[in-house]
Amino acid sequence: MTHSETLIRNADTILTMDDDRRKLTAADILIRDGVIHEIGSNLSTTGNTIDARGCVVTPGLVNTHHHLYQSMTRAVPGGQDALLFGWLQTLYPIWARFGPEEIYVSALTGLAELALSGCTLTSDHLYLYPNGARLDDTIAAARDIGMRFHPTRGAMSIGESDGGLPPDALVEREKDILNDSIRVIDTFHDAGEGAMCRVGIAPCSPFSVSRDLMRDAALLARDKGVMLHTHLAENDEDIAYSLERFGCRPGQYAEDLGWTGPDVWHAHCVKLDGAEIGLFARSRTGIAHCPCSNCRLGSGIAPIRAMRDAGVRVGLGVDGSASNDTGNLMAEARQAMLLQRVARGADAMSTREALEIATRGGADVLGRPDCGRLSLGKRADIAIWDTTGIDSAGSWDPAALLLAGPTRVKHLLVEGRQIVSDSQFQSIDLPSTLQRQRQLARALQT
Ligand SMILES: [Zn+2]
Repeated sequence: MTHSETLIRNADTILTMDDDRRKLTAADILIRDGVIHEIGSNLSTTGNTIDARGCVVTPGLVNTHHHLYQSMTRAVPGGQDALLFGWLQTLYPIWARFGPEEIYVSALTGLAELALSGCTLTSDHLYLYPNGARLDDTIAAARDIGMRFHPTRGAMSIGESDGGLPPDALVEREKDILNDSIRVIDTFHDAGEGAMCRVGIAPCSPFSVSRDLMRDAALLARDKGVMLHTHLAENDEDIAYSLERFGCRPGQYAEDLGWTGPDVWHAHCVKLDGAEIGLFARSRTGIAHCPCSNCRLGSGIAPIRAMRDAGVRVGLGVDGSASNDTGNLMAEARQAMLLQRVARGADAMSTREALEIATRGGADVLGRPDCGRLSLGKRADIAIWDTTGIDSAGSWDPAALLLAGPTRVKHLLVEGRQIVSDSQFQSIDLPSTLQRQRQLARALQT
């Protein structure tokens, strides 16, 4: 039987994020059939070789929260300086004009941006389906670029006429939401090790769907063995809404409706209190921390130090490109580190811990212990960072990537396949993708 092999040779440093968090120097990684086959020195192959001299090698970064479609509505003037609810009300009418092509092209652009920042596995939260758009459009984009993808079938069902935030044109009937969730799970979800596509269920937030839909979504997810995702406790308005409408805090609301457990992860959680942190730790519920978005929308500083100390599983997310407005996951990891230092002092989070959150932390939150670390038998999702460039020139510790290193990857491998080589895509034509993205964004402005 012939195997497909790739050898990464002579890396200056490998930050493995394995169980012992080993840091190796002058080492090689041999990949066979998409899996890490051997790590050591002086390894050889008859297959492809990637020279990693002058480079730091890390696991591919994992993005646990995004709305890829928003890459087409970055820096929209009316939303640049608004708080969350006002920001949403500015953007909803624009998003209502999207269709399948806007969803596909914006997803491809967003995925490409993530890949160049070292991301190999991303989730996506698509909660509006205007004009015939489907989750399938984003899955096609991920397949075309070759990234590992966890799309979630999001939803909104309470429109303005029912006291909700989104316009009625963007909400769906709850029966249709559940039926389409079943369709996309049955069509695309792969539960196996090494899966390239896993589907989750993700009502947009407690303020855009009913209590019944939250409960039914949890029942359906458990029945199908897929994960659950939503936005939770994002800012003070969010907490006030929960207290007023549901008579309880978001943690209680989540627990009552079956929205805690190792198969659940919540975005933001900026405003979780001590009891809620305890609940999430006990129930092994995951968090997608989105520091740039939280800064951009003035939501606050999520208590990540307290969460990690309590044993809460934490991953990192860039959040949608309309509230970041970039999608650079490496820069996001640096922001996570800086924000905890603002809140708790310079020793609150090390570069290594922030990178761990961005790699194995995110993989664990997404239920992917087969990803996010470089050790034998794990998937060969690998980011290679050139530390001979201007970013690292003069650095005494190039492996401290989040202090000085590059935020754009040199090479990127997903399942052992090289999708970025010398910072250029092998799988897609990026210039024509960006040209179409600009054309469609301009058309939405008129
Ligand atoms: Zn979000």
